[in-house]
Amino acid sequence: MTDQSCQRYLEDPEANASHLDECADCRALAARLGEAVEHRPVVVDAGALPLASWEGAAHRSWPLVLGSALTVVAVALALCAATGMSPLRVMDASMGSMSALRALIRGGADALRGAPISGQVAFGVAVVLVNALLVVLLRRAPRGIDA
Ligand SMILES: [Zn+2]
Repeated sequence: MTDQSCQRYLEDPEANASHLDECADCRALAARLGEAVEHRPVVVDAGALPLASWEGAAHRSWPLVLGSALTVVAVALALCAATGMSPLRVMDASMGSMSALRALIRGGADALRGAPISGQVAFGVAVVLVNALLVVLLRRAPRGIDA
């Protein structure tokens, strides 16, 4: 009809929808825009999608985690009581085994430093190969997901 009502319709199509009934130009324009932009809702079946790793973390059952930890502690205390050892003595002994482990590692490092250069190179290549294998295993997609 008038250019002014066309202007009002173009500025706010939803409030002035009745303008389409009286103006053929705007009706044609709206039809063309409607073809270009389909108002089709996106329907996603959430059950059909696999959980992302961060989504799965939200479903962790904290009562189960706490219950498992308490069970492990209870079993450890029961074993201490059954063997007649105090838990503090067991902790002290495990610290001792930690320092023994540290000494073992230091001995291995000294042996590597004393080894011929070919042995050191072979050790370095083995470290790279093992790490490459671990990276490949980490990057492999879980079953059921094509990536
Ligand atoms: Zn119009």
